[in-house]
Amino acid sequence: MPDCLFCKIVAGEVPAKKVFENDDFVAFKDINPQAPTHLLLIPTKHIPGLSSAEDADAAILGRLQLLARDLAKQGGLSDGFRLVTNNGRGAGQTVDHIHYHLLAGRRLMWPPG
Ligand code: AMP
Ligand code: ZN
Repeated sequence: MPDCLFCKIVAGEVPAKKVFENDDFVAFKDINPQAPTHLLLIPTKHIPGLSSAEDADAAILGRLQLLARDLAKQGGLSDGFRLVTNNGRGAGQTVDHIHYHLLAGRRLMWPPG
């Protein structure tokens, strides 16, 4: 297993407030929330970031978006939500296991900082 924080969360070696888990995906609460709802959605497969995703990962990435749809619906986020991935240090990526931030519950500004 890669020495990766989010792989350790998948494996249960690092605690996290998981709100969804199956063989392919985990969603958990961000430890430093930037909005009233701030979840991280990750594939259980270690993909370092969107730049290193392969064509064969298309189904994983597509289903990840549909998981966001489902979690937003379950969470009653009818007022809107934002799904964002930071790719690379210049974009603010700090954990090299692809993850999508699901943010909601406050007015989200555009453009983001
Ligand atoms: P990024 O900066 O886009 O790579 O996002 C990484 C996110 O992981 C940040 O929003 C952190 O607050 C979050 N994070 C870091 N460590 C943990 C942890 N142990 N449990 C939950 N979220 C974490
Ligand atoms: Zn990983």
